[in-house]
Amino acid sequence: MSRLSSRMVSLGSARSEIRELFEYGKERAAIVGPENVFDFSIGNPNVPAPDDIQAITTKLLENHDPVFLHSYTSAQGDFESRDNLAQDLNNRFGTHYHADNFYLTAGAAAALSIVIQALANFGDEFVTIAPYFPEYKVFVESAGATLVTSPAEIESFQIDFDALEKAITQKTKAVIINTPNNPTGAVYSKETIQTLADLLTQKSEEYGHSIYLISDEPYREIVYTDEPLPWVPSYYRNTMVCYSFSKSLSLAGARIGYVLVPREVDEFEDLYAAVCGAGRSLGYVCAPSLFQRVTAQSSHLTSDFSIYRRNRDLLVNSLRDMGFYVAEPGGAFYLFPRALETDARTFIEKAKKHDLLIVPSDSFGCPSHVRLSYCVPTERIERSLERFEKLAKEYR
Ligand code: PLP
Repeated sequence: MSRLSSRMVSLGSARSEIRELFEYGKERAAIVGPENVFDFSIGNPNVPAPDDIQAITTKLLENHDPVFLHSYTSAQGDFESRDNLAQDLNNRFGTHYHADNFYLTAGAAAALSIVIQALANFGDEFVTIAPYFPEYKVFVESAGATLVTSPAEIESFQIDFDALEKAITQKTKAVIINTPNNPTGAVYSKETIQTLADLLTQKSEEYGHSIYLISDEPYREIVYTDEPLPWVPSYYRNTMVCYSFSKSLSLAGARIGYVLVPREVDEFEDLYAAVCGAGRSLGYVCAPSLFQRVTAQSSHLTSDFSIYRRNRDLLVNSLRDMGFYVAEPGGAFYLFPRALETDARTFIEKAKKHDLLIVPSDSFGCPSHVRLSYCVPTERIERSLERFEKLAKEYR
């Protein structure tokens, strides 16, 4: 009988549908040629980082003592880097943050696992809106807590407040939101965030303890709506932000992001200490030091997202013309159309016959849909359209 951690063995060997699709795509490419495989499975940014990133990185590498540049920083991150991030947010959102509100991390994934670990006691519940980013369940369960899901409104993927109200209980420690959203592209308006803030305030009073809001924001800058994205902590005091430069600066492999703990949150000092403690207990030591310094100088920049908007418009319009039901994504680079039959896995198998690689919705906690990542060359989308048309025709 194995004496290994059965939970870790099962996490590490769990079937990843996205990875399987990726491997399948490679096999098919060897047979039919890479140009004839239409892979929409992975959310890896396909636009380059801004030119300035190259220049800033080169300058840092050339002008700094390499020992300084590559050595450990303090656990929460280099002071100057955190200070620069604070100034950037203050300029953009009229806030008053300073370096001590930031804890730099290896991307949003680390930020989320740290915040969840910092908050969770055994038996606590974390509530999120389904469909949701599947790693939430992994991070919450690793912290000994339970993920509770509340279904979104199925037409728009906006928050269904009646369902959310029922999902919040005495055991709720925090609610996790993600706007712009993976996998739906939904963006929450300021009215939505205000309604959420009112609900959480009311529930905190009703249950006599703080209910925190974790705002997972790796797509914060990738927005197509006219209205700017609301700054969530300005609406709800007990908000912590998990941010990443993976998507805004196309630096997914550099692993850099942060947790923001505003001074206004309940038990600020202990909570910030718990964030540091969680980073320590998870063995993060400090965020990658070179990219702490790169992003400190570039957090006001973004990659060129015009290709994402073009891809979104092309796919939404074309799929709708073919008879797909598609909610218009207000941000990020994902589309979440309804599958043309109830079982999304059967549907994606039919799509595979046309060499269209799309992800079934079940692992996002929502049946009968598929996710398409449109961070791909526009030309791939253009050439894929006749395949989608053939697929749709099978259902007419
Ligand atoms: N949160 C959401 C909603 C995501 O889609 C992702 C990555 O795709 C992450 C968090 C983690 O991003 P990273 O760790 O690369 O910053």
